[in-house]
Amino acid sequence: MSQSGQFRNRLILVIEDEPRMLDLVRITLEGAGFVVSGAMSGQEGLGKLRDEIPDLVVLDLNLPDISGFEVLREIRNTVQVPVIMLTVQASDDDRIFGLELGADDYLGKPFNHRELVSRIKAVLRRAEMPAPVTRGAVKVDDNLSVDLDKREAIVAGTAVHLRPTEFKLLYQFLNNPGRILTHEQLLSRVWGAEYRDDTQILRLYINYLRKKLEPNPEGPKYITNERGLGYRFIDYKAGG
Ligand code: CA
Repeated sequence: MSQSGQFRNRLILVIEDEPRMLDLVRITLEGAGFVVSGAMSGQEGLGKLRDEIPDLVVLDLNLPDISGFEVLREIRNTVQVPVIMLTVQASDDDRIFGLELGADDYLGKPFNHRELVSRIKAVLRRAEMPAPVTRGAVKVDDNLSVDLDKREAIVAGTAVHLRPTEFKLLYQFLNNPGRILTHEQLLSRVWGAEYRDDTQILRLYINYLRKKLEPNPEGPKYITNERGLGYRFIDYKAGG
């Protein structure tokens, strides 16, 4: 059974000032069963956000009136709605800044239409997910599960001890499947705010975890790099 009907008629607000791009996104999303509301400026977008209460916002960062970051900040102060940023420049700084302001994902222009649809579905799925896992066993796949009570991983049927910091790091990943976590987010959540620039220690612990969990630590499948941004854990809740 496919999930194609799962998000039918969800309302997607697209804030994009270029008419051709807005049309393109609208056609793509409507073709995938979404309902689309378009806004061609930041102000119009924020107005529609309050009036229409969309299920998800696709936000172009490059807007004529107010910056996309300003819009994002305003959205985060107003409602709990998932946001996917569209970025033109290949600037890692922009993406990091956006993710830290609370965007859920980003796509660089030009993007593949199917990619946009699959990102939207993944973000909606996470947003509609039940409360974070805190107890019991979490099954990632046939090879890996994590016992949250014992704080150990079970890798290919064998219990693997995790040190406290390794467990805290893994816990962040388990609660954010498929989502990019920036270096700074991971450092401040696991080590504390004063460590937020210490990417060295983060890399070290990512390596520890990979050696313990990954079938092939050199070609990781659970914890993948988002170059210059952070790490993404496998979307194990997406289902097969
Ligand atoms: Ca634009």
